[in-house]
Amino acid sequence: MLQVSVNCFSCRKSLQDDKVRIDDFPSVKTKIICEAGEGYVYLSSSYGSFDVKTEIPIKDGEVVEFYCPHCGGSLKTSENCEICFAPMVRVDVDAGGRIDFCSRKGCTNHHFEFSDINRDLRSFLAQYSGLTVPFPREDEESGNNMKEE
Ligand SMILES: [Zn+2]
Ligand SMILES: [Zn+2]
Repeated sequence: MLQVSVNCFSCRKSLQDDKVRIDDFPSVKTKIICEAGEGYVYLSSSYGSFDVKTEIPIKDGEVVEFYCPHCGGSLKTSENCEICFAPMVRVDVDAGGRIDFCSRKGCTNHHFEFSDINRDLRSFLAQYSGLTVPFPREDEESGNNMKEE
């Protein structure tokens, strides 16, 4: 399974929490507001795993609001889930790209996106060299100089 470390797209601080571990990896800590109140929820940092630890009960099918525990910014995107139409939530992957997932409990819609496929995938593969995914060849780029940020 692919273990990722993610950050808040507003303040760029890491959402990784080493104290709470899920699937034997550091979890992804977010703040939530749901019908039962507000609290923290810890998501699995393994992509594709839906293990969560919550401080407060979330009902099945409930749409939850996700916030950054550092800056309090909403992690909601302007996109809606194509399965259940709840707002999609976004976290940025440290190695490049982003993960969007549905804010409704029980909905398993989530996907990995690279905003700049060449740059993000290269940096991603540098960290996850064991993965076999199609990789754009250097000589296929047309004078597009890489800029280090
Ligand atoms: Zn933040
Ligand atoms: Zn959904």
